[in-house]
Amino acid sequence: MSNTFDLKKILRPHILTLAPYSSARDEYTGHVGVFLDANENPYGSVTEADYNRYPDPHQVDIKQKITSIKHVSPDRTFLGNGSDEPIDLLTRAICVPGRDHVIIMPPTYGMYEVSASIHDVHIDRVSLTTDYQIDVDAVLNAVQNDTKIIWICSPNNPTGNNVQDSAIETILSGFNGLVVVDEAYIDFTDKPSWVSRLDEFPNLVVLQTFSKAWGLAGLRAGMCFASAELVRVLNKIKPPYNISLPAQQALLAGLEHVSAKDKMVSDILTERKSLQDALLELSIVVKIHPSDANFLLVQFEDAKAVMDYLISETIIVRDRSRVHLCEGCLRITVGTNKENEVLIESLKKYQQKNVTV
Ligand SMILES: *Cc1c(COP(=O)(O)O)cnc(C)c1O
Repeated sequence: MSNTFDLKKILRPHILTLAPYSSARDEYTGHVGVFLDANENPYGSVTEADYNRYPDPHQVDIKQKITSIKHVSPDRTFLGNGSDEPIDLLTRAICVPGRDHVIIMPPTYGMYEVSASIHDVHIDRVSLTTDYQIDVDAVLNAVQNDTKIIWICSPNNPTGNNVQDSAIETILSGFNGLVVVDEAYIDFTDKPSWVSRLDEFPNLVVLQTFSKAWGLAGLRAGMCFASAELVRVLNKIKPPYNISLPAQQALLAGLEHVSAKDKMVSDILTERKSLQDALLELSIVVKIHPSDANFLLVQFEDAKAVMDYLISETIIVRDRSRVHLCEGCLRITVGTNKENEVLIESLKKYQQKNVTV
């Protein structure tokens, strides 16, 4: 299949010609001077740390640092207020409300659907197969004239598995709209990221986040890697100061600690294995789905009862038992060694009370 993707053809026409807000810091980019251009408070802040100046709208220092780690150039890197922000911006830039369609593959991350719904974009659902892989023919058959975005999550949330590269590749070549691969959990798998293939596929967008492996969910920072042309569009439509000054400072500091991130990832992978082994010993567990992420999707004989019991013990997991193809399942984030022990002890107690051998 040949691909004739052209971003200009799928962008909403008014976005193409839109003039972005030009912030004070866009018009003068020097670092020293008497800054009387942005109506900031000249004395400082009410807090000990000084936040009186607006942050860099283009996050130049952070992008440079990210480039040295991810090997994607800054002009192909977009930073958002969490990766939820690029999900929203992509939907808004591309999809005409009330007319255009996106394809999602349940069970998957909820924000693609929420974002489409907010903007009154039609959602076509093509179920994953029972082993949580893409039904490529069904996806390509579901593509209509007005289908603009196909959302893929790999490793997938809430199922935890990697999606086959061959399926993603077929969709990238066979679809003339955007294919977004959400790699929020990429650090927990051995599989290489799709960022290395941006050159091959102009319609490929890769999302990553600082919220999981980097341990920075509270900062709200996510990455979107795409063609320079699409990144220019996202920069044009984002709120000018979408990454706050304290978030930028903390990110810049955090990016110096790649090895600390790697150590935590490795600890989480060790814990994932022990947690899996311990869960498998319990008779109330029916199945543990293979995971390439920092959580396990676990099927129980009576998920609802287990969920209620855990809550009574103030252990909170995610009830996915009523989600398509996840019937009877709870999604359990891998915790610290101590936390996982508390969970297992609690499940053992539940089992003793409820299962007569
Ligand atoms: C957690 C998660 C994200 C991250 O969202 P942020 O807004 O960056 O915190 C993105 N996609 C998926 C599939 C996730 O599970």
